[in-house]
Amino acid sequence: MQLLKGKPVADGIREKTAVLAAKLLEKDIVPTLGILRVGANESDLAYENSAVKAAGAVGVHVEKYIMPADSKEDDVLDVLKVMNEDDSIHGIMIFRPLPASMDEELIRNHILPQKDIDGISDASLGGLFTGDYRGFPPCTAEAAMTILDFYGIDLAGRRAVVIGRSLVVGKPLAMMLLERDAAVTVCHSKVAREKTEALCREADIVISAAGRLKTMGAAHTNPAQVIIDVGINFDDEGKMCGDVDAEAVYDKVAALTPVPGGVGGVTTALLMYHVALAAQAAAAENY
Ligand code: NAP
Repeated sequence: MQLLKGKPVADGIREKTAVLAAKLLEKDIVPTLGILRVGANESDLAYENSAVKAAGAVGVHVEKYIMPADSKEDDVLDVLKVMNEDDSIHGIMIFRPLPASMDEELIRNHILPQKDIDGISDASLGGLFTGDYRGFPPCTAEAAMTILDFYGIDLAGRRAVVIGRSLVVGKPLAMMLLERDAAVTVCHSKVAREKTEALCREADIVISAAGRLKTMGAAHTNPAQVIIDVGINFDDEGKMCGDVDAEAVYDKVAALTPVPGGVGGVTTALLMYHVALAAQAAAAENY
């Protein structure tokens, strides 16, 4: 079985980003990511620290906009307006979920498409259907597709199953695979496990984004299958694992992304690349 490691994929993206950032710096432009965080939950803080590190490594600057957990929705919208109007901020990332009192849909749709580097607004997501991109595609879905391309896995005319139908991962992935001429099936929690197993057994490519341990086992596989494991879960001992029971499928499929070491690092690398691209586009508009 081939292990489809994310590192060489992410390294290539990081290199492209660093080159672009250096070119922009020659014009006194520093690609800048604005992070909007409401409250201080532990996983947001951990992700923020790793994003700051990842940004620094490729010449992307980070500006943090931190608001107390009991902020009002209008205050968040005001800060977002400032970020939208500030020409020195090229990309905007909002930590979600936002506090339950806030209308997340309203807030995510206030990000200007050209600054929506993780493709969370309806305007950005609409591009997945029409091909008319005003923003960027969601980084996690793009990361899964980038890994498939990097390892030369053909998609046209092949059967692909996506497990999960969230707006962040599953649905964008289904559209991206369709755009690349795959025959796409989407499974989710309302599809009986036996049915999902049978559909996956027929699939050349399975992308699992359910966020549940052991969503996929040996019964989902065939020997020619390629699996991209998007899930991030933790087992009883606190060890990070994907959706796939890696031990059970190890000698039963052709290729699998590891967790950790697969999709996650590519997602972060793409996020920074999008910031550099947004800065480049903004610079082109201003000259
Ligand atoms: P989500 O919003 O919770 O969506 C999960 C989806 O999986 C839902 O559509 C759900 O179905 C479906 N599902 C849940 N249990 C299932 C099961 N047993 N069988 C089949 N389908 C099932 O999660 P998400 O935001 O899409 O994220 C999915 C996973 O990807 C999570 O583990 C998350 O941590 C991970 N993730 C990884 C990265 C990365 O960079 N590697 C980035 C983002 C997210 P229903 O629609 O019917 O509820």
